Amino acid sequence: MSQGLETEVQYVKGVGPRVAALYKKIGVATAEDILFHLPRRYQDRRNIPPISKARPGEVVTIRGRVRRVEARPIGGGRVLLKAIVEDSSGAICLTWFNQPWVKKQLEEADQIIAYGLVKAGANLDEMSSPEWEAIEADDDGEAFAQIVPVYPLTDGLQQKTARNAARSALDNFLYAVEDPLPPSLLQSQKLRDLQWCLRQIHHPDSEESRIQARRRIVFEEFLYMQLELAMRRAATQQELGIAFPIAALEAGEIPMVREDVSEYDVKTKRTASVSTPQDLFFKVESEKREGEPLWQQIERMLPFEMTGAQSRVVREVLSDMALPHPMNRLVQGDVGSGKTAVAAACMLAAVRSGYQCALMAPTEILAEQHFKNLKNYFEPLGIHVELLVGKLGSKDRKNAYQKIESGAAQVAVGTHAIIQEGVKFQSLGFVVVDEQHRFGVLQRKAIRDKGFGNPDVLVMTATPIPRTLTMTIFGDLDISIIDELPPGRKAIKTHYKRPFERESVYNKVKELVQQGRQAYVVCPMVSENEKMMAQAAEELYSQLSTGAFSEFRVGLLHGQMKSAMKDEVMAAFRKGEIDILVATTVIEVGVDVPNASVMVIEDANRFGLAQLHQLRGRVGRGEFQSFCILISDAKSEEVMRRMDIMVSTTDGFKIAEEDLEIRGPGNIAGTDQSGSLDFKVADLLQDSKLLEVARQAALRIIEKDPNLNGAEWTKVRHRIKQRRSDVALITVS
Ligand code: ADP
Ligand code: MG
Repeated sequence: MSQGLETEVQYVKGVGPRVAALYKKIGVATAEDILFHLPRRYQDRRNIPPISKARPGEVVTIRGRVRRVEARPIGGGRVLLKAIVEDSSGAICLTWFNQPWVKKQLEEADQIIAYGLVKAGANLDEMSSPEWEAIEADDDGEAFAQIVPVYPLTDGLQQKTARNAARSALDNFLYAVEDPLPPSLLQSQKLRDLQWCLRQIHHPDSEESRIQARRRIVFEEFLYMQLELAMRRAATQQELGIAFPIAALEAGEIPMVREDVSEYDVKTKRTASVSTPQDLFFKVESEKREGEPLWQQIERMLPFEMTGAQSRVVREVLSDMALPHPMNRLVQGDVGSGKTAVAAACMLAAVRSGYQCALMAPTEILAEQHFKNLKNYFEPLGIHVELLVGKLGSKDRKNAYQKIESGAAQVAVGTHAIIQEGVKFQSLGFVVVDEQHRFGVLQRKAIRDKGFGNPDVLVMTATPIPRTLTMTIFGDLDISIIDELPPGRKAIKTHYKRPFERESVYNKVKELVQQGRQAYVVCPMVSENEKMMAQAAEELYSQLSTGAFSEFRVGLLHGQMKSAMKDEVMAAFRKGEIDILVATTVIEVGVDVPNASVMVIEDANRFGLAQLHQLRGRVGRGEFQSFCILISDAKSEEVMRRMDIMVSTTDGFKIAEEDLEIRGPGNIAGTDQSGSLDFKVADLLQDSKLLEVARQAALRIIEKDPNLNGAEWTKVRHRIKQRRSDVALITVS
């Protein structure tokens, strides 16, 4: 029989069809799979003290003669088995529950060796359910007293069986494993070869060897992912997009409108024949004519001076826009850092180049808020903005569609649904996606299909993303960070209160409202279900509007309300006609009412850190000292940790790092993205340094060989392809 890596598990010595069926459940089908089915942890059984020296609380190996075995029924048909084991120094009592068959095995054994946790017992110390083996008197026990792998199992698959299978796979198949990484890379990264590492990770000679072996395997996992991201990025940079005439705009020249559309080949830097509209490169020639320099227009447009961080990010975006490739940039800026103004400045550049822009927000409330702001900014400059939301009547909608299609409207604002709707643009060149992390291939394709080549895309998010995650799921995006808040903001004061203190909290709210401020009361997150949330909100609303806050104007906002109603409420709150707004998390993102300066969050323990941070960002947006009060009854350690973090910092990045630690990367990335974080061995938190190393290595490799065409990368290329089909990576083009 051939001993190839593809050998089915059932033919691996010590496995057989029954065990093979169990292995199959955990995705282990071949000999190779067994080799790569790695231990989850290890038992270090090397410490064999004399029995009298084994202390309660220690995990040790003991060895001795079996003195007495007794089985005692303990009701319900269950059996407690006790065995006294002694050596020349003393004795210990070993116990097993419900394993009656162990009795006979023990009785037949002369000496045994056992590994487990020592506990203080009534007479003798005890060890319950130890792992053990019978042993000959002249056996030194070394085979048992090793560092022993502990494998992930499934029901019915015994640890012992898995250990034997791995042993036999190592003995018979390891020689056939080929290292996918080229020797030059191993050398430069100071990594051992794969065979050595596999042997060591199953059966480490020492802790150092185990660490070294694991390091290599983790590096390899990270490398494949980082290579893929780097390749994807390199590919985007090869794609053709719009080269906005930024330098000309900055100099105050007026670009001629896109009549001289030419076809351009990036590689040859020449006009080329082109087959699909996506390959078109639209070149905008500018005319030497006096105009107002771009930055002057931006200044004139905004009612405030940009912060240093805002103008730096605008410059970063503009220099991307100038390149003849589609931009794919993520702008991260904490809540209130002024992302809207940044987007507006960049959109202005696009409009002045003769292109249309679209801004998409996650909710209608936000879309309308953006619409209002952009209208204020753009109209004085003669730029027409249209709003596209679900509630438009058919006449208004038709009108808006028509203006967008004819180019009479240069800017369209709406929800993310814009790209699904029938709207056509005359010359869409720049797209802003607000409060979203990610903009998928499908969405980009939908936009392209709107008819104008490959627009630049700017994605904005207020959710700070820890560095480890930006290197992984977002590794193919360019990132700009607005790391400064507009001047004059006062840090929000956050307090943690218990439910019995609610009255004093309400009194504080009343006091602030009497001073002219407005307040949010956020309902507990009773369920993921919108209907139930709405009910809870309605209850809290009627309670507060007739009780504690009966003297004030109280409003209600939740996701189940008709959108016209929502608008009405938001508009009233904005105008100050509502003092206190009872709301669900629909106000979570983006809502901007600077006079609102206090937020009470009920059952704050039900919200995650990122969500609390988002919610809290609705206050502290104006000149007033703002407050956030977290009310929570629960006091588990984890809840207390979250509350402490919220009280002690308003720094979104710090909060994000903590969140990552508490929840783990998969949860933060969201279900549709966590697939790309499915590592077998690597742990993003623990191995973040190594991730950086792998990223740097990948960038260097791709720089030299963008498609990994070199012969030394054949196996790596193959692995990347495999990985891609294993985890359905959500890709961004
Ligand atoms: P976010 O980044 O959370 O989307 P917004 O764009 O909504 O923030 O801006 C928050 C508030 O700060 C708005 O009221 C906006 O007008 C104001 N703002 C933005 N930039 C500045 C600035 N440079 N100086 C003063 N106020 C600013
Ligand atoms: Mg915003």
